[in-house]
Amino acid sequence: MARWRLTRERALARLRDVKESLRAHVDQRFGFKAKDCATCLTPCCADAEFVNVNVTRLEADAMMRVLGDDRRFSDEDRARVLTRARDAVSAYGLSAEGDTFGTTYACPLFEPGAGCLVHRDAKPAPCIHHGCYEREEDLPGNESLVEAERTVADLNRLVYGADVSRWGYRTIPVWLVQLERNRERKTRELTSPSSDARA
Ligand code: SF4
Ligand code: SF4
Repeated sequence: MARWRLTRERALARLRDVKESLRAHVDQRFGFKAKDCATCLTPCCADAEFVNVNVTRLEADAMMRVLGDDRRFSDEDRARVLTRARDAVSAYGLSAEGDTFGTTYACPLFEPGAGCLVHRDAKPAPCIHHGCYEREEDLPGNESLVEAERTVADLNRLVYGADVSRWGYRTIPVWLVQLERNRERKTRELTSPSSDARA
């Protein structure tokens, strides 16, 4: 029996569909009653005592893919975001272990003046769902978020397997730093003299 049941490419496409569907649901039924984030003077994404968004590995893959798009980001842009991620890990004591939802951080994907760098293609479900509403009764219910998160977890299992330690929820900075390390290690392996000898 095949170990992987879904390619990462197909999972990423389905992940986009899940997020798009959640966004359409929130925008059409609730979002227009929320405060306009574009005019917000105190964006929550930059509030180190507020953000505790955790994402899965597949979502972090999607974020890295957005950052890797040369048409949108230069090497300097990417380096700036990854430096912010490393700084956040060390400044806020973020870890892959323990109660990762219990720690808060300023999100490295928030760019002053531009907003969320992954807004269109890789925004986490809790961020899509979140907004500032005047009246409690205008808030979207949690069901749509829970359903989206359940599907996101299923997609991770289909790509990375049942072992949640390989793909489970971690803060955005922790995953970005981890995936960048993985990328650097693979690059070193591919360019090392011993890899030439093996080829
Ligand atoms: S959700 Fe609220 S606090 Fe966050 S950026 Fe939008 S308006 Fe500002
Ligand atoms: S992923 Fe985007 S929306 Fe979510 S906290 Fe980070 S900058 Fe804000």
